Amino acid sequence: MADTSTGERHEFQAEVSRVLDIVVNSLYSKREVFLRELISNASDACDKLRYEAQINGSLLAEDPDLKITITPDQKAKTLTVTDNGIGMSHDELIENLGTIAGSGTARFAEQLAEAEKDKSKKEKSDVNLIGQFGVGFYAAFMVSDSVTVVSRKAGDDKAWRWTSDGRGSFEIEEAPADTPRGTSIEMKLKKDAKEFSEPLRVQTVIKTYSDHVGLPVWINADGKSEQINEAAALWQRPKSEISADQYTEFYRHTAHAFDEPWLTLHNRAEGVIAYTSLLFIPEQAPFDLFDPARRHGVKLYVRKVFITDECEGLVPSWLRFLKGVVDSEDLPLNVSREVLQNNPVVAKISKALIKRVLNELKKKAEKDAEGYAAFWGTFGQVLKEGIYEDQERRDELLKLARFKSTEAEGWVSLEDYVGRMKDGQESIYLLTGDKAETMKTSPMLEAFRAKGVEVLLLDDPVDEFWTMSADAYEEKPFTSVSRGDIDLSAIAGKDGKKDEKSEDEDQASEGLAPLVAMLKLALENQVKDVRESKRLTDSACCLVVDEGDMNMRLQKMLKATGQLGMEGERILEINAKHPLIASLADKAKGDGAGKTVEDMAHLLLNQAMILEGELPKDPTAFAKRMSDAMSRAVS
Ligand code: ADP
Ligand code: MG
Repeated sequence: MADTSTGERHEFQAEVSRVLDIVVNSLYSKREVFLRELISNASDACDKLRYEAQINGSLLAEDPDLKITITPDQKAKTLTVTDNGIGMSHDELIENLGTIAGSGTARFAEQLAEAEKDKSKKEKSDVNLIGQFGVGFYAAFMVSDSVTVVSRKAGDDKAWRWTSDGRGSFEIEEAPADTPRGTSIEMKLKKDAKEFSEPLRVQTVIKTYSDHVGLPVWINADGKSEQINEAAALWQRPKSEISADQYTEFYRHTAHAFDEPWLTLHNRAEGVIAYTSLLFIPEQAPFDLFDPARRHGVKLYVRKVFITDECEGLVPSWLRFLKGVVDSEDLPLNVSREVLQNNPVVAKISKALIKRVLNELKKKAEKDAEGYAAFWGTFGQVLKEGIYEDQERRDELLKLARFKSTEAEGWVSLEDYVGRMKDGQESIYLLTGDKAETMKTSPMLEAFRAKGVEVLLLDDPVDEFWTMSADAYEEKPFTSVSRGDIDLSAIAGKDGKKDEKSEDEDQASEGLAPLVAMLKLALENQVKDVRESKRLTDSACCLVVDEGDMNMRLQKMLKATGQLGMEGERILEINAKHPLIASLADKAKGDGAGKTVEDMAHLLLNQAMILEGELPKDPTAFAKRMSDAMSRAVS
């Protein structure tokens, strides 16, 4: 664009330029979705104004009937989308349409960066990404040579015109003062996109993507104006009149998402408190699931007026994957967002919503185990936060929870686990760690494996927290296999016999005392204790924590975030049956074994640390001791 106007010229933020580059050059076949994006933005803008007008009625007064108007012009080869919503100021135009602000777009840019890092992913075409994430406002450039946005913010005197051809920069200049409130987006259509200046084509697209919109959408063509949608908020319509596609499109609009809903829950409550809820569980996890600043959860409306999408009391954070709308009839319209937090009506609605969602999940789990497993894989981590945050629903959540396990592929429920418990087994055994696959080979599991006792493998960070506060499921205590004394002697082995120590074993245990004493001395400042292990059958040693002490992984996690200053204390366990330990024990009984046992003590500890994924504290000393031991072995 030649710089001939009096406007200011701005460069797009680098990420926007990259997004635009792809959008402008893409041959995306479903590019008609640009219209969905623009209508979605127009509808958001009207929602925002309606809310602001609760406090400042004059904002709406000059033009009270909110609507969206779409004007295809075959002669001029343009398409214009106009709304009389909140509008944008000079600075907002720059901020919103020149940087990555939109959530969908942010994700798109993120995926793009990801794809650029990873060559193999780059194969997956950019077009695919557009389909998956959408690009918000920038989608207009899929069909346009240039886009002009004229906007006047509600309550402002000045109006502004934003123009761009989507190639690196945009311009802003003042627009005539008689510009009506709201935003008008005019697209100069590309040669191959002229279809979007044909009224019939445009009408079909609007029907497909925007039938759920709660505002009137008008089409303005050939000198005639016609309203082409029902303009009733989708959630207020009877279920029987809503198609699956309409639900999906509404979900995408309200959640700023581009996948399918995994679960749709549409309900009307008429009791003491009347409200309508239309809730969705997405199929895919949003990129910001663990971002504390995330928004766009469940939106609260009061009698069809949008109030907020940040009502903290409405949905607990362990259900933050829920999307959709709650529309209450019992809250005052002018309720301030701050007051909502402790509002008793909101609290009651929240309670009912949680109950409904958990019930529905339970049904899903019973009826469609495979589908439920997919849900669990995506959102289980979040739901598990509820196990320690919500005492009241702990048991219900434990029933819904699924785990990896040593005895089964796929997900295991606690009910499955308890059903498989061995005679004499009192506890539900679990091991926490970083990755279930590698945990399967942990020495901690040796005694359990030998007896065929199932152990749950918990590899989400959140597992460290709920396992500390939840103590039992159906009176079966949770017992961490890396903590305290483990005693499996009451459980019969695979041969059907309970443990009775053979005489050999008894002797081995008895003979261990001098070695244990020497190891304790050598490792005095590094471990809390040294003792004989009941959980090892094959390995020589391992590290565990005492009953009541923090799990090693939690210690590590807290240390990494600076929340734990000191070193946690651990116990070194040694296996009396292991040939190395047996020989060392013999040696320890004689004189002059001090130096050897001391070296071995450090090597044993270092080995146990490595199994825990840690480096030896003093790698040089470790390497030297190791080489010395190896030299002795070969000489
Ligand atoms: P998103 O809708 O996900 O936020 P978009 O790229 O679609 O992302 O839009 C970016 C931002 O531009 C919006 O968040 C909004 O602040 C602003 N915007 C876009 N269209 C309009 C409009 N018609 N009226 C007012 N503001 C708008
Ligand atoms: Mg948008």
